[in-house]
Amino acid sequence: MDAITKNLTAAQTDAVTHVDGPLLIIAGPGSGKTRVVTHRIAYMLQQGVRPWQIAALTFTNKAADEMRTRLNLLAPDQPVWMGTFHRFCAQQLRRYASFVGLSENYSIYDMADSRSAMKRAIQAAGVSTSHATPEQIASAISKAKNRLITPESMQQQSGRASDAVAARVYPVYQEQLLLANAVDFDDLLYHFARLLRENPEVRGELDAKLKYIMVDEYQDTNLAQYAIVRAMSVDNPNLAVTGDPDQSIYGWRGADLNNILDFEKDYPHVKTVRLEQNYRSTPNILAVADQLIRHNRRRKAKELYTDNPDGENVVLRQYQDGYEEADAIADEIASQMIAGNAEPRDFAIFCRMNALTRSLEHALRNRGLPYQIVNGVEFYQRKEVKDLLAYLHLINNPAHDVALQRIINTPARSIGATTLGRLQNYADEQRIPMLQAARQVDEIDTLSKRSKTMVRSFVSLYDRLRKKATESLEDLVRYLVEETKYIEYLERTSVEKEDANPVENVDEFLSAAVEFDRMHPEDGSLEAFLEQVALVSDTDKFEDSNNRVTLMTLHAAKGLEFPRVFVIGVEDDLLPHYRSKQDDQQLEEERRLLFVGITRAKQWLQLSYAKRRSMRGDFRVAIPSMFLSELPRADMNVIESFADRDFFDDSGDMDYPDSWDFVQEPAPEEEGEKEYRSDSVESSAVTTDPPESTETAVASSAVESPTGDASDSV
Ligand code: ATP
Ligand code: MG
Repeated sequence: MDAITKNLTAAQTDAVTHVDGPLLIIAGPGSGKTRVVTHRIAYMLQQGVRPWQIAALTFTNKAADEMRTRLNLLAPDQPVWMGTFHRFCAQQLRRYASFVGLSENYSIYDMADSRSAMKRAIQAAGVSTSHATPEQIASAISKAKNRLITPESMQQQSGRASDAVAARVYPVYQEQLLLANAVDFDDLLYHFARLLRENPEVRGELDAKLKYIMVDEYQDTNLAQYAIVRAMSVDNPNLAVTGDPDQSIYGWRGADLNNILDFEKDYPHVKTVRLEQNYRSTPNILAVADQLIRHNRRRKAKELYTDNPDGENVVLRQYQDGYEEADAIADEIASQMIAGNAEPRDFAIFCRMNALTRSLEHALRNRGLPYQIVNGVEFYQRKEVKDLLAYLHLINNPAHDVALQRIINTPARSIGATTLGRLQNYADEQRIPMLQAARQVDEIDTLSKRSKTMVRSFVSLYDRLRKKATESLEDLVRYLVEETKYIEYLERTSVEKEDANPVENVDEFLSAAVEFDRMHPEDGSLEAFLEQVALVSDTDKFEDSNNRVTLMTLHAAKGLEFPRVFVIGVEDDLLPHYRSKQDDQQLEEERRLLFVGITRAKQWLQLSYAKRRSMRGDFRVAIPSMFLSELPRADMNVIESFADRDFFDDSGDMDYPDSWDFVQEPAPEEEGEKEYRSDSVESSAVTTDPPESTETAVASSAVESPTGDASDSV
């Protein structure tokens, strides 16, 4: 008891010791909501609740890991289920796959897979894309799934022209996914929510088994997530949720603030706890955050105070351009370190979009400052890695057409686009997976003799690989690389780029397989490995133990805290994002996003904007964000930039030591050397960057992984 409630306030203890019955913890940032969740789990265990009766759902894998670490300190090694919504649903769906028309070994399509499946469905549905782009169609379908709208009911609703087109594609897309024994990220929630709705026995079984469900960051749940936790808390309404309406930042993914605002209506006997003391930030930082969020009209006012000592003023800084911003920030980090009061891990730099970090990477690298970019999916998006993964996917799930299309001619084996097209047509006509079509190649009259031979030899390669599937993952991957002569293929075809050596990526992938075998000596299956990879979220690669500066998007920063924070690019069109400015609700969400960023800071905070910024190859005049004019100048140091400077001079004017003594381990090669994509949707697995607008939210519910995380990050 003591260890569990010792360092808690009365209000926190009140929440922690409330075990049975619904519980709502509604409070501002840094007030200990997440802390309450972990302490409450420890308390329940102490009161005799069995660990397998508890599930704690988060939005990112990172948040779940952190919870696990905190719980381990209070109650070591308890098998309490903690993870993202997407991971939770993925695991449940394995058990109940047949209820929704899948088999247990179903595959989870990533963004790119979903996109190519979508293209094929658009083609097969025969709709024109002149009034609705594939992205708009994908986004409309994604939204429908997040609202649990079935293909049939979407067809009955008449909406915008693009929705009508989407409504025609939706059933075809779903049918093709089921045929491929695959789901996209939205389906994880959608199928599971429908399963609970349509199968009272399953629902009752899970409700009885998982008696205590907790959801952190409940303000970001969408309708599907809401339906899931609600369905599992009917007979045992011990649902505990925490949230802060002011931190709701996933509206673009269908998050519905009403889920938290109506919680008291949903559960009339709820116990509501409000926490008012902030333990994270200085009063100055809190004052700035508070002033900003007061400008949102759709909110309930709430007071936050802190007993923390006064800190330095919040800095509001103007730079000439993005390059100066990057250099000056790197210099600032270096000088704070030289002053001796900070380490690299104390710093985080947040931005609205990933693309903004490129110049920062450059500046940090030039000064030998170690950094990490929180964007875990990147590795798994590399060509070599995707190729190998596609083989594994097809081995695991022979109906995985997207994988087959990727690898049937990789490495090249003279199976061209025409052959592939004919194979696909045959599969579509027969309504069979493409691999099965390949097995029936003799019956496809349109194929030449030579093509048939090539296809047959691919099938026999496939069968050889599949036989190895029962061995360890390491053996399977080694065999795969050898049998396909994959390294030779890479050496033949890839131009070695300065920053990425494809052969090394294959080695790294092999290491991931070895690591997986090691971590799962008994329960390691190919399927489990693929699931883990599919649900990697942005924040997964983020390791506290690394003493590095962290670069991440504002969305990925949710729930985290850092002693020293920079928010860069606080400019009009970036933050608020230009597509959010027309709509009041979206504008308020952008304001909340900045609020989330500001409230991550414990001791020191700088917000910055530039006079000019180069975006997508265009060097433009930038205007300070309207949000900056809403901040209280009394608590801030406002510093304008007068210096005219040479844009490309990034040497700075400081003397740097030859080597920093904090750099203990050498940074892995690809760390910081990687190419940055401006397409943030692409990088999203489970919790991820929002797409640039709600319209392009392509199947993006994968947060929590990321992740949001499906991350869980979905
Ligand atoms: P957010 O809304 O940003 O997710 P939160 O409400 O979940 O914030 P926590 O992350 O749980 O807040 O707590 C913020 C910080 O305050 C953490 O470092 C936590 O350890 C600390 N903290 C919370 N409660 C107390 C307490 N009673 N005594 C000391 N430290 C506390
Ligand atoms: Mg929290």
